[in-house]
Amino acid sequence: MALSGLDIYKKLPKTNCGECGFPTCLAFGMRLAAGQAQLDSCPYVSDEVKAELSEASAPPIRLVTIGKGDKAFKVGEEQVLFRHEKTFYNPCGLAVLIEDISSDDEVSEKLKQAKESQFERVSQILRADLIAVKNSSNDAGKFAEAVKKVKDGIDFPIILISNNPDAIKAGLEILKEDKPLIYAANKDNFEAMAGLAKEYNVPLAVKGSESLEELAQLVEKITALGVKDIVLDSGTRALNETLRDLVYIRRAALKQKFRPLGYPTITFPCEEADDDYLEAAFAGIYIMKYGGIVVLSSLEPWKVLPLAVLRQNIYTDPQQPMQVDEKIYPINNPDENSPVLITTNFSLTYFIVSAEIEASRVPTWLCIMNVEGLSVLTAWAAGKFVPEKIAPFVKKCGIEEKVKHRKILIPGYIAQISGELQDELADWEVMVGTREAADLPAFLKKWSA
Ligand code: SF4
Repeated sequence: MALSGLDIYKKLPKTNCGECGFPTCLAFGMRLAAGQAQLDSCPYVSDEVKAELSEASAPPIRLVTIGKGDKAFKVGEEQVLFRHEKTFYNPCGLAVLIEDISSDDEVSEKLKQAKESQFERVSQILRADLIAVKNSSNDAGKFAEAVKKVKDGIDFPIILISNNPDAIKAGLEILKEDKPLIYAANKDNFEAMAGLAKEYNVPLAVKGSESLEELAQLVEKITALGVKDIVLDSGTRALNETLRDLVYIRRAALKQKFRPLGYPTITFPCEEADDDYLEAAFAGIYIMKYGGIVVLSSLEPWKVLPLAVLRQNIYTDPQQPMQVDEKIYPINNPDENSPVLITTNFSLTYFIVSAEIEASRVPTWLCIMNVEGLSVLTAWAAGKFVPEKIAPFVKKCGIEEKVKHRKILIPGYIAQISGELQDELADWEVMVGTREAADLPAFLKKWSA
């Protein structure tokens, strides 16, 4: 049962020292109860009280890690129902389903898709995250062979799918060191599956069959057996029912702090839709609400790109502007005579300006200055894109080694700083560019003519 802020306060030191970042112990207790603070922030809580409060201070949705190393996939630990309330933390995972009855060519093709469907957007790599291997043959030996093939072919975290504990054990023997997710414990096999999860120290998916109440009871039985890392599947395979259950699970975890449903989820649009387009549409819905892992039948670029972009947009922090890296971007193979432009690292600004330069076909150097992701006018108004900061950036960014000339084009919206910038950049000729990016191609063509 979750403790109230007042209950927690009674166990705190009550010295109001403020070291936790809150002015009083009561304020800290309230935030802790709401899942908006970490118990570790108070250095004066005894181990005994820590143990008592661990339930209250645990995140309402448990963080589950699948796989190891660089590509380990983390899911859960979400704290809000809606992104604009704070942010979503751990992006949902895109997985591809590989059956152990598939031919070698089919398996190779899906692994190839998983490796190749990668895209860079706003300085982030967008791609799929997991491979789900399904024991469709019902043969433990065949399943183990398929798992080995996948393990040898790609270094993605793996989900082992079978109702048969013997098949899961065969897969786990191959992935002993790789921390796969095993799927799934149900009302008939949960004791054996929980035993395997404990023996191999891996997370366990729990699948319901009748209702969320039944799923919660099953989770309680499994946690009583000592399994902590759980992923939930309500068991429905119809869009409206799955979506309803995902919302209920998230609400129960966050609003009621109902621990048996306080885990991330897994969804299977690949089993719900009859064709690829519908499957992608269902996957988009589960990315938005509240799928933790979304299992797809294939990973063609047309499917991965829009889903990964949707995911990226939902899981970026709404309080942090999206930004690109501060550096010099060469566009259209520029040389030492090519024009030099400067603007801010707000991602929208970068994409619009770079697209217009590309369209112009004029070889150009685009210098992007870090102003914490603000647009040109906002950065200027905030004192971040002003002559005394632009000038040192131009001198240190390396553009002087790339071009023979000394002409630099600033955005038309900050024409008013051109005189002052000229004073700061005595070696350069400061030119004022267009106000709208759409007018850049004509401007650049004229300049390079
Ligand atoms: S650090 Fe601990 S003792 Fe100090 S105000 Fe915060 S909760 Fe109270």
